[in-house]
Amino acid sequence: MSRKLYLDNAATTRVKKEVIDEMRQYFGELYGNPSSQLYELGRKSKEAIEKARKTLADFLNAEEKEIYFTASGTESDNWALKGVAFANLNKGKNHIITTKIEHHAILHTCEYLEKFGIETTYLDVDRHGLIDLEELKASIRPETMLISIMFANNEIGTIQPIEEIGEIAKEHGILFHVDAVQALGSVRIDVNKQHIDLMSMSAHKIGGPKGIGGMYIRKGTRIDNFVHGGGQERGRRAGTEGVQNIVGFGKAVEIAARNFDDHVERLTVLRNRLIEGIKNNIPDVVLNGHPTQRLPNNVNFSYKYVEGESILLLLDMEGISASSGSACTSGSLDPSHVLLATGLDHGTAHGSIRFTLSEEIREEDIDFTVETMKKIIAKLRAMSPIKNDEDLKKN
Ligand code: PLP
Repeated sequence: MSRKLYLDNAATTRVKKEVIDEMRQYFGELYGNPSSQLYELGRKSKEAIEKARKTLADFLNAEEKEIYFTASGTESDNWALKGVAFANLNKGKNHIITTKIEHHAILHTCEYLEKFGIETTYLDVDRHGLIDLEELKASIRPETMLISIMFANNEIGTIQPIEEIGEIAKEHGILFHVDAVQALGSVRIDVNKQHIDLMSMSAHKIGGPKGIGGMYIRKGTRIDNFVHGGGQERGRRAGTEGVQNIVGFGKAVEIAARNFDDHVERLTVLRNRLIEGIKNNIPDVVLNGHPTQRLPNNVNFSYKYVEGESILLLLDMEGISASSGSACTSGSLDPSHVLLATGLDHGTAHGSIRFTLSEEIREEDIDFTVETMKKIIAKLRAMSPIKNDEDLKKN
C-alpha cells in the first residue's frame, strides 16, 4: 500500500514547480548581491526583488513601498508587535488587544512585552472561534496602541470579521495588525477596504519556499525598524536579501492571484465533502470552527472517546499526514489553546484532528480519508476505556 496523502497544508505546502523553476536561476547564473548596483548582476537581483514586491502589493491593493520582506510569518508578527510597542514606549500608550486563539508568534511576543510594561487584553472567542465585536469595543482604553487579530485561525480555520474590526480600530485611532499567514491566497485581502495598517504573511503556506515572510506596513505608520544593519528594505529590516526566496514568494503570489476564484471554489467543494462524509459516517463527532466562515481547506473535528495522537499514528500507517489538537511540537501533550478557548473540555479537545487540503487533492482522496477515519475511529473506540465506561453507564 503506497498511497500517500498529505493533508497538513496548514503546516506547510509543497513548493510549486513553477516557483522552483523561477527560483533556480537565482541560485545559479543570477547570484548578484542586490546592494551591488554598479554592475548588472547586482541590478538584476534588485529588479527581481522589486518585481516580487509589486506582485504582492497588487494582490493586496497596497503600494509597493508598503511591502517589506522578512524571514517568516513569525518574524513579521514579532516586528508588528515589538515595533509598535517600542515606537510608543514612554508615550503613554502601553496596551495591546489580541485574542486567545492567536498563533504563538503573537501570544509569546505579548508575554515578552510585559517586561517592558506593555499590557495585553486577550479577547474570548465563541464556540465557533469568533470574537465578539462588543467585547472588543469595551476593551479599548485611552492607552490602547494596537489591535492584533488573525485573519483566519490555523487550527480551526475560522475567519474573523476583519473589515468590521478595522473600522472599529480606525474610529478609535488605533493601529490594526492582522496575522494573515493562513488567509493569504484563500481569502480576499484588500488592506484599504479592510482598514489594515500592518499585516504578516508567509510564503511556505501558499506553495512558496520556507524562510521567507512578508510584512505590509501602511505608509506613515509609527513603527520601529526591526533588524539594524545595512540599508536593505529601506533601512527597516537589514540583512542581504534572500533573493531566490523573495522571487519564489512573488511567483507563489502571482499563481494565487491568477487562480484565486477557481482555487477557493474547488477547495470549498472538497472541504464540504469531507465535512459531510465524516459527519454522516462517524458518530459522536464535533466540528470545530465556524460552519461557513472558515478557510476553504480546513476540516477540524473532535472524535469523542479517542486520543488524537493515536489517530495520527494509525493515519500515518495508512499513508495520510494530518495534525492533532495537541501542542506536541512543544514536547507537551496539552490540548491546544485554540480548542480550549472555544469551550471544548480537555478530553474532547484531545481527540481532535485537523485535515488541511491542497489543490493536489481529488474527490477520491476525500472518500478514502472518510473510509479510513471510519475504520480507525471504530477500532480505537473498541479499545477505549472511556467509551466502555460510557456504554456501561448507559446500560
Ligand atoms: N501565524 C499563523 C496564523 C500561522 O499559522 C503560522 C504558521 O503556522 C505563523 C504565524 C508562523 O509563520 P512561519 O511558519 O512563516 O513562521
